[in-house]
Amino acid sequence: MVLETQIIRVDEHNIDADLVLKAGEIIRTGGLVAFPTETVYGLGGDALSPEASGKIYAAKGRPSDNPLIVHICRMEDLDHIVKEAPAAAYKLAEAFWPGPLTMIFNKSSVVPYETTGGLDTVAVRFPSHPVARAFIEAAGGYVAAPSANISGRPSPTSVKYVVEDMMGRIDMIIDGGDVELGLESTIIDMTVPRPAVLRPGYVTRQMLEDLLGSVDEDKTMMSNDSTRAPKAPGMKYRHYAPKAELTIIDGAIETVIEYINKETARLKKEGHKTGVIAAEDTVAKYNADICKSIGNRNDERGIARELYRILREFDDEKATVIFSEAFDASGIGQAVMNRLLKAAGHRVIRL
Ligand code: AMP
Ligand code: MG
Repeated sequence: MVLETQIIRVDEHNIDADLVLKAGEIIRTGGLVAFPTETVYGLGGDALSPEASGKIYAAKGRPSDNPLIVHICRMEDLDHIVKEAPAAAYKLAEAFWPGPLTMIFNKSSVVPYETTGGLDTVAVRFPSHPVARAFIEAAGGYVAAPSANISGRPSPTSVKYVVEDMMGRIDMIIDGGDVELGLESTIIDMTVPRPAVLRPGYVTRQMLEDLLGSVDEDKTMMSNDSTRAPKAPGMKYRHYAPKAELTIIDGAIETVIEYINKETARLKKEGHKTGVIAAEDTVAKYNADICKSIGNRNDERGIARELYRILREFDDEKATVIFSEAFDASGIGQAVMNRLLKAAGHRVIRL
């Protein structure tokens, strides 16, 4: 079924309350609205409605065992959707909410299994983006929202890519400009005695440990160990991927440049359109068809913001093979490398 998708523009510095109410009304009546958050664009539906959650999976082509994150806009709304929240969760909320942290709790009975992918737990986030907060409030307080992309593709960091993926599939798109962070939230499981990071993000393990003492980490996060199932079901899928085959080349930088240039020269002869993702200090040294700078290699925040846009641009420009330099995987860099590894289907060549 093709829907007529309205696009509205809402300025975060001057929020048009009438427009936001209109968007909220769509959610209250069972429809779907894409909206900006500080991480990536979300695809929202009423989190407490099984039918709305079903529509989200259909619009994205998302496997139904991959649970949705429930977005709230007031701390006091947490109680309604969780069975209990441990004291540690309030500590984290105080430090990082509103913001790019998702916490997993045991769910209360009001949250349908359609929203949680059949799990007894629910993922909750309180975003900081002013438009997201106003929209969630107008929508009734509980908005289930995965990223607003077709399943498997890079998450949208600007409205252009939401339109590309979601036009005709949902009722409304709120254009709030480019996002600020560019990578999905950190996910931490609060249902276990020692909280565990299931997906790395802007809020790093170190930041969590500074508050809670030691914190676990899902061992499947940075490896390709297919004998283990990640605890966040969505992390098992090939994700965030451009259409071209992407390979990460890791090693001493001069050797990496030499290797990639040899490979792209060979692949060009075979008729490929070749691409390279590199830091700004080395990007000029490559001779692929399309060479893109992801910014300063020491600026993880900048790299995080650019990554998905760059992956999407390679699609726009019809690259067929892409090579990427590896970047430092500490701090926020861990989230960057986690997404890059997934986009590459864990294809890494270590020189
Ligand atoms: P997205 O909304 O596209 O950023 O994906 C949401 C991520 O959160 C996926 O990787 C899900 O598997 C994960 N997630 C959501 N709810 C839960 C839950 N109850 N337990 C574990 N992981 C979850
Ligand atoms: Mg996603």
